[in-house]
Amino acid sequence: MAELSATLKQATPVVATRGEGVNLYDAQDNRYLDFTAGIGVTSTGHCHPRVVAAAQEQVGKLIHGQYTTIMHQPLLTLVERLGEVLPQGLDRLFFANSGSEAVEAALRLARQATGRPNMIVFHGGFHGRTVATASMTTSGTKYRSGFSPLMAGVQVSPFPDPLHYGWSQEEATRFALRELDYTLQTLAQPNDTAAFLVEPILGEGGYVPGSTEFFAGLRERADKHGILLIADEVQTGFGRTGKFWAGEHFDMSADILITAKGLASGFPLSGIAASSALMEKAWPGSQGGTYGANAVACAAAIATLDVIQDEGLVDNAAQRGAQLKDGLQQVADKHDEIAEVRGLGLLIGNEFRDKDGNPDGATAAKVQQEAARRGLLLLTCGPWGQVVRFIPALVVSEQEVDEATALWAESV
Ligand code: PLP
Repeated sequence: MAELSATLKQATPVVATRGEGVNLYDAQDNRYLDFTAGIGVTSTGHCHPRVVAAAQEQVGKLIHGQYTTIMHQPLLTLVERLGEVLPQGLDRLFFANSGSEAVEAALRLARQATGRPNMIVFHGGFHGRTVATASMTTSGTKYRSGFSPLMAGVQVSPFPDPLHYGWSQEEATRFALRELDYTLQTLAQPNDTAAFLVEPILGEGGYVPGSTEFFAGLRERADKHGILLIADEVQTGFGRTGKFWAGEHFDMSADILITAKGLASGFPLSGIAASSALMEKAWPGSQGGTYGANAVACAAAIATLDVIQDEGLVDNAAQRGAQLKDGLQQVADKHDEIAEVRGLGLLIGNEFRDKDGNPDGATAAKVQQEAARRGLLLLTCGPWGQVVRFIPALVVSEQEVDEATALWAESV
């Protein structure tokens, strides 16, 4: 008898047979309120009728084209449509299948374009599970240990994390920028550094928002030394935080933007965007892959963009996010073990701390399991698993947010 690999650790007990909006159902038709959204992927909800229709129609026309061999219309249309939502100047696109592949593409582009070897990444960052992306990931030892040697040329500098340092946002930002200068001068060397790779809000690292001053500091140093600034918006993009890109909250101006997850409502699709001048520095043939920009995934992404626009999902993420954060804060006010509720839009984390103020992954996991037993599916994150996160689909309703908050209150 065959079994699934034990390296796959299932966070909830659910065997789902179908999904609809923010709901999942098992074979006995038990309903679960899914506030995990496939780790922030099913942005338009499970099986949105317009995404289903677009994918079904495309399956009957052309499933696979292979973009270095033939071009197909869904890809050309998607490029045009993404041009309407991408930050100005980032008008050249490359597509892959997963977030990790897109991060690797950004890394290759940065090294080729600058001719420099080193990358600077930030504490708590998560960028993937391939060897190169794991080398740039510091959000947990499980992502790095056991398969060394990792990629050389990566230096890690602090991310402004006020709760972790016990400082204000201003102090944490000042510290992070001072340490970045230290890292640049002593470890990475400005003239050997290709790029800063950073998430606008730490995702797997515990839902920690950056700050406008921090990203301005990165931009300033990038410009001064000819270093590229890469924004990893794999988890934070596509409306999740109440703006189309999370970088907008911080006036962040990146040279390369990485997207995946919410892009195609569950079909595997990822991409990077950069200026033409930068993208042209990549050697022809140096980026690519057999499955990138699959025609069905591209059709689903176009439908996703239509739904986000027609149903006002970015605004919904902002409004329902504010409602959810408020409800979660009220629960936290009654429980000392929840030290902080933080995040933007529909990307919200609840940080658990023990009596001594240390990150408390065990209690977070217990509460997450309690919630699952009551039919509310949640995930943990953070280097110690100390954060329980809420990332429902952007279609979530006022009533569903209330329902989830009530189940959470019973579970804590
Ligand atoms: N970058 C960020 C910010 C992510 O959150 C993730 C996945 O969670 C990745 C990269 C890797 O994406 P994937 O799991 O699709 O390879």
